[in-house]
Amino acid sequence: MEGRERVGGRVLTDRETFSRPIDLGASIITGIAADVNKGRRFDPSSTIFQQLGLKTKELEGECPIFDAVKRAKISKEMDRKIAGVFDGILDMCTNKALAFKAASGGKGVGKENFGDTVKELFESERALQEGDGEKVEDKQGAADEGGEEVVTSLRQLTEEDLRVLRWHYAHTEYGCSARLNEISLEHWNQDESEDGAGFGGPHVMVPGGYSRAMESLSDGLHVRTKACVKGIKYGDGKVEVTCSNPDDEGDECIVADSVVVTVPLGCLKRKKIEFDPPLPDWKQECIDRLGYGNLNKVVLEFKEEDDGNVFWEQGSNSVGDVMMFGMTSESESTCGRFFMFWNMKKVCGSPILIGLLAGEAAYEAEQEDNKLVPQAMGVLRNLFHDVTVPEPVSCRVTSWLSDEFSHGSYSFVAAGASGDDYDTLALPVSSLVHFAGEHTWRKNPDTVGGAMLSGIREAQSILRMFSRDVATVVDDMMFTLDASKDLEEGEEEEGDGWEEEEEDIPKVENPKFKGEKKAKKQKPRQQKIVGTVPYLSNADHAQAKEEIRNVYTYFEMRKGSEDFAELMGSLKSLDGKRAFVKQCIARGDKTNYLGALKEKHLGLLNSWILEFADAPLCTDFICDCIRLLNKLNLEIKDMKETKLGKTMRNLAQHQPVKVKKLVTYLLKQVSAVPAKADKEKERSASGDASETKEAKAPKIDEEEVKKLEQMREEIKRRKEEARRRHEEASKKFQEAARMIGVMDAAEPPSPRREKRKHRHSSSEKSKKARGDESGGEKRVDKKLAGEHRKQCVSYIKNLLKESLKEGKIDKEQFKAIVAKVWGKLEHHPSLGKDEEFLTNDRKGKIVKLIKQYVAKS
Ligand SMILES: Cc1cc2nc3c(=O)[nH]c(=O)nc-3n(C[C@H](O)[C@H](O)[C@H](O)COP(=O)(O)OP(=O)(O)OC[C@H]3O[C@@H](n4cnc5c(N)ncnc54)[C@H](O)[C@@H]3O)c2cc1C
Repeated sequence: MEGRERVGGRVLTDRETFSRPIDLGASIITGIAADVNKGRRFDPSSTIFQQLGLKTKELEGECPIFDAVKRAKISKEMDRKIAGVFDGILDMCTNKALAFKAASGGKGVGKENFGDTVKELFESERALQEGDGEKVEDKQGAADEGGEEVVTSLRQLTEEDLRVLRWHYAHTEYGCSARLNEISLEHWNQDESEDGAGFGGPHVMVPGGYSRAMESLSDGLHVRTKACVKGIKYGDGKVEVTCSNPDDEGDECIVADSVVVTVPLGCLKRKKIEFDPPLPDWKQECIDRLGYGNLNKVVLEFKEEDDGNVFWEQGSNSVGDVMMFGMTSESESTCGRFFMFWNMKKVCGSPILIGLLAGEAAYEAEQEDNKLVPQAMGVLRNLFHDVTVPEPVSCRVTSWLSDEFSHGSYSFVAAGASGDDYDTLALPVSSLVHFAGEHTWRKNPDTVGGAMLSGIREAQSILRMFSRDVATVVDDMMFTLDASKDLEEGEEEEGDGWEEEEEDIPKVENPKFKGEKKAKKQKPRQQKIVGTVPYLSNADHAQAKEEIRNVYTYFEMRKGSEDFAELMGSLKSLDGKRAFVKQCIARGDKTNYLGALKEKHLGLLNSWILEFADAPLCTDFICDCIRLLNKLNLEIKDMKETKLGKTMRNLAQHQPVKVKKLVTYLLKQVSAVPAKADKEKERSASGDASETKEAKAPKIDEEEVKKLEQMREEIKRRKEEARRRHEEASKKFQEAARMIGVMDAAEPPSPRREKRKHRHSSSEKSKKARGDESGGEKRVDKKLAGEHRKQCVSYIKNLLKESLKEGKIDKEQFKAIVAKVWGKLEHHPSLGKDEEFLTNDRKGKIVKLIKQYVAKS
């Protein structure tokens, strides 16, 4: 049931207003390749474009920032300096968040917000300056990357510096689609910092429009458009959904076994659907707590001059060769207003600019719709002051907040909320009402890919209840989308028989690699297929359904943990156990469930793990069990007494990498927790063994504080490490750039900028994107693919020759490395497409891979 007349929701391509399709909602696929090192998936929507043979355009090049007052591009030095200051501010905010957490005894989610904390930092810095006038000191994180300038500090910032700094604020507001003072200080970038969160690989735009993916997905499905859902009544094993009739003939009621609610969080917040009975408090509180913001776009199309040029390609501030450029603003209150423009001429070839409105500006935009185009023109005329800027021939302004079917743009972690809220929003109510949508997918919220994955998750969980065979298919689909699959077998995988086709390249005969390939091939992934799945064939299906219901009811009623044993003992099916473990993970922190589990039921949990450890399709369940164990702060003693230690050691040997990683982390955590006896000893040594229970309480807090201190130290160390690695990477990158003849190659983006670079990456720019008349579609051309391959392989060989000459590798290794490096590129979607394949970015990647493999050899 779809309220609008069209499918796609916040993915909306306008095909009428402009000469090319333009995306008014989502427009960037934020990662098209799994990053096995970070455990990141690729955005599944990229697969659809690949399958449809539709062109995507990688976001490349710098994003120069222009100063609104000086009407000129800010220098590279200043850009770096202020980016360093902003990183310093982020560091200070991280420390503040940790301090707040320590002050609360390590419990609870801080209500502190990002904006106010930054303000306070500035105020205290300024007060210090006015108070003692002492010499300006270096501040942590405000690094001078050039190495010549003096490290800057907040107290030294000029008005121009501040304008650039505010641009970074606007960029953060854009990434979160929220005002700075709404964003959680502690968890604002949980979708970047948590393990496996975020998508991997380059970001791309879709010249033919993102809606193509949604339309193709809905093709052949029975979607009832103009069916606005008004009420959901649930209970007695069924749901009744009331919705408007597409023919405006009053409301109708549809009865079903189960329902998946996928309306945006903005609609849930406004209670656009009446639930009967009302949603339980735990769900409603979560809906209220998690943030949901706004972002708007102003799209302007201009007429090309006779020579094919447009004004932004001319004059002293020409930006014709970049895909995006930033603008500072004179005042703080307007810093999100047109802080960035996308140059769509580089994406689709048409003379179109898209201005972004973030933070407060996104909200204001909805009230001053008719003023926005003149405002945008004012900004552009100010910037391109030495050329004629004509009036646009077409324009369009979005208003996502006023849209009754979205009420805003996307979710963010608001002050007082945390990543856990995404998990709780994903939980069903009464096992009848399920929830999906970007706001229910913790690892990739606010993305199209996250929304898609959440849909698959709910399909999987409902099918598990109603249909056994189909469920396994969905299970397998989910597994395929998992980046850990690449970890298991992607590394050394063979291509599609290129060795036979490519005479030029010798066959790989390095026994070392051969052996590895064989070993991997022997791993039968087909075992995951339907038929042998124990919980589907053995367990009574109705019972599984009943068990899930019992688990949800138990947790919803918030019963005490005393009858935990009874509940756990009654669960026989994998589904019941899975539901139990998931509920404990999602809710355990806020209740005493975890304590009870740790005290009495670890043995039972161990037996569950043993029962399903070797069963197919149970990896996710095993992972969840280990995640739960990780939450329990176990000691070595617990592991021994319950035989969990032995189980974990076994798992570490025989399970997929995903499980191994979790087990390793668990074992590390366990050995880091000092045994109770040691703690007692410490206490008696410090002479307070006779403390009363009450007197002991602050002691625990002290421990927490100590732990947090250690954590802070650890974070500092890691940051240092990351900074060092980044520096190294920059050097290597420059070196690589020099090797491939691009002396002024842009630096790779700092890892700290990820969230802010959320919707675009900043890699080295390449070719022009003009002249594509195919409506964005391009199919793989085999001949072209062969040419691309030849180009690449000879490039790899040329680079490797040096190492061969110097004796760093022998002939066999030479061949093997050529094959391995090519193996990493041969499945890239742009192979065989009518565009440059061996881009500077890719050359850089090749150099990096070669160095890696040569070092390994
Ligand atoms: C301006 C903007 C830019 C963005 N940029 C990006 C980007 O570059 N990359 C990216 O990955 N993501 C981006 N996003 C976010 C992305 O669009 C969303 O995360 C994603 O589309 C959410 O999908 P969903 O299915 O959860 O919700 P939606 O796409 O909103 O789908 C919900 C559906 O429910 C329907 N509905 C609502 N209420 C009712 C009702 N009562 N009855 C029946 N139907 C109802 C709606 O019409 C809609 O079709 C952007 C979003 C916006 C607004």
